[in-house]
Amino acid sequence: MTVQPSTKARMLLRTAMLVSALSFAGAAAAGSSGTKEVVFIAGAPSHGFMAHDYLAGSKLLADRINAVPGFSATVYYDEWPAREKLDDASAIILYTDGADAHPALPHKSELAELSRSGVGIGMLHFAVEVPKQKGAAEWTQMIGGYFETYYSVNPFWRAEFRSFPAHPVAKGLKPFQLTDEWYYHMRFRDRLQGVQPVLSAVPPDETRLGNDGPYTGNPDVRAAVGKNQPEHVFWVSETHNDATSPAGRGFGCTGGHSHQIWAQDQFRKLVLNAIVWIAHGEVPPQGIESRRPDVDELLGNRDPGVQDEQVPPNFNRQGLADEIAKMNEP
Ligand SMILES: [Zn+2]
Repeated sequence: MTVQPSTKARMLLRTAMLVSALSFAGAAAAGSSGTKEVVFIAGAPSHGFMAHDYLAGSKLLADRINAVPGFSATVYYDEWPAREKLDDASAIILYTDGADAHPALPHKSELAELSRSGVGIGMLHFAVEVPKQKGAAEWTQMIGGYFETYYSVNPFWRAEFRSFPAHPVAKGLKPFQLTDEWYYHMRFRDRLQGVQPVLSAVPPDETRLGNDGPYTGNPDVRAAVGKNQPEHVFWVSETHNDATSPAGRGFGCTGGHSHQIWAQDQFRKLVLNAIVWIAHGEVPPQGIESRRPDVDELLGNRDPGVQDEQVPPNFNRQGLADEIAKMNEP
């Protein structure tokens, strides 16, 4: 009898889950070596240089995850990984376009099944947006919420994060400020069941005043003008399916538009903490410390085949270095 690799991988997965359930070790789908595999799915280029730099951002995060003891990361670029690669994963991170072009849409049942078996699912920026009729149920199950057009909005603003919840993903975080396209007014599970907001901030009122549209504004968002109402832009979720499976963990992060934000130490720490946590790993007391990327790294790791992803000839490198320093000022 020939055992196909995918069948074998699934058998290994079941064995790993059984061991986990019996020992209450809380390790979901760890590879047979004991190393936790993190699969990054980086979407095709989207917005040109330094925006939606899915490949460069995923490579940067994967590099930092590879420095975490017991973790190993692989980046898939503009391709969907083979099922056996996903079966071996402890966490799957999607940094891709969303909406109708979301590359996970044709694979949503597969992803939802993996989530139910305890594989962590993380979604960055545009990847949190899915058409309501096509993926709301799966996204809500996997990560606790999603960007719903005509309900959520996508302005740029400077968010001030002053405090954090008592949760493993917030370990070691200090208050910080960061400007990005922070989508907000996400569609979450009812009463935030199993959802823990981690980054919340009060958006400037002018971001609530956009005209009605799929992304710009709506009466619900405008109703909070003048109320100093915080909005959740990063959250984690947990779903307990049955007594024998580890909980399906997820996170959603609405920021991630501008590539340079990966140089903000607190933001990067939170994302790395969240990746480790959804993989059922242990976040250390001070959180995941990692090397701040310099200008060379931020400008690197681009797809050489895409013209508008390349560094412009007259690019102001000193300006970027100054911006990195400024965004890290306490
Ligand atoms: Zn964006």
